[in-house]
Amino acid sequence: MKLVEIENLTVSYEGVSALDKVTFSVEEKDFLGIIGPNGAGKTTLFSCMLGLITNYQGTIKFFGKDIRKSTQHLSKIGFVPQKPVFEKNFPATVEEIVGMGIMKGYDKDKVDESLQKVWLHELGKRRIGDLSGGQQQRVFIAKALINDPKVLILDEPVTGIDSQSMEFFYQILNDLNRKEGITIIWSSHDLDAVARLATKVACLNRTLSFHGISEEFFHNEDLLKMYSESSMQMHMHKHED
Ligand code: ATP
Repeated sequence: MKLVEIENLTVSYEGVSALDKVTFSVEEKDFLGIIGPNGAGKTTLFSCMLGLITNYQGTIKFFGKDIRKSTQHLSKIGFVPQKPVFEKNFPATVEEIVGMGIMKGYDKDKVDESLQKVWLHELGKRRIGDLSGGQQQRVFIAKALINDPKVLILDEPVTGIDSQSMEFFYQILNDLNRKEGITIIWSSHDLDAVARLATKVACLNRTLSFHGISEEFFHNEDLLKMYSESSMQMHMHKHED
């Protein structure tokens, strides 16, 4: 079953194109890794899916419904943003942050259940600022899981996290997908992790140059070469600016 269908999605900022006729769909239980260089349009794509950008061209459907006509899909999506940074003395506890995600009233059992899924159930009373960067990011997964989403969207979630925490984070994502059946849409610069975890890959750089089975991408020398060349070009442009 198709959970998300995106057709000819086009977005411009002040006349400059950020996404150009992007078309792909996401099937139930997919683990989709979206790869692309800085500025490729990954965050823009997620902002459209989450209803934060509405002046796009094309269509986005969740569960068969055009998101311009219904916002029902939002209750079925959990979103994990790029790594937040908390001041050491930020006053909220882990439980309070997770509980903030609940749509209908605070529910302690739900908070505990969500924290259990990310192996943080013993740290619920701690202040968020006392946790490591990797643990904080797991708190944000717990918050995103609190309304039992069908889809988890993660925007480059592990940037700046040490490699051991990153592996743990990936293990949790893997279990959520394989054991709990949650569909995952995840943008990442970590090509090795995408090769290991994702079942499907989308290669985005304003346009979509590939969308399909992960092995198909990672076993195709031409596609890999094209990806690394476009990343390199973007990198050079950034340094010329
Ligand atoms: P990164 O990996 O660096 O987070 P990204 O793939 O998420 O990048 P976007 O943040 O979606 O890419 O940006 C796509 C393009 O749109 C970039 O050229 C960016 O500079 C531009 N852009 C993004 N947001 C805005 C905005 N609010 N106003 C103007 N231009 C923007």
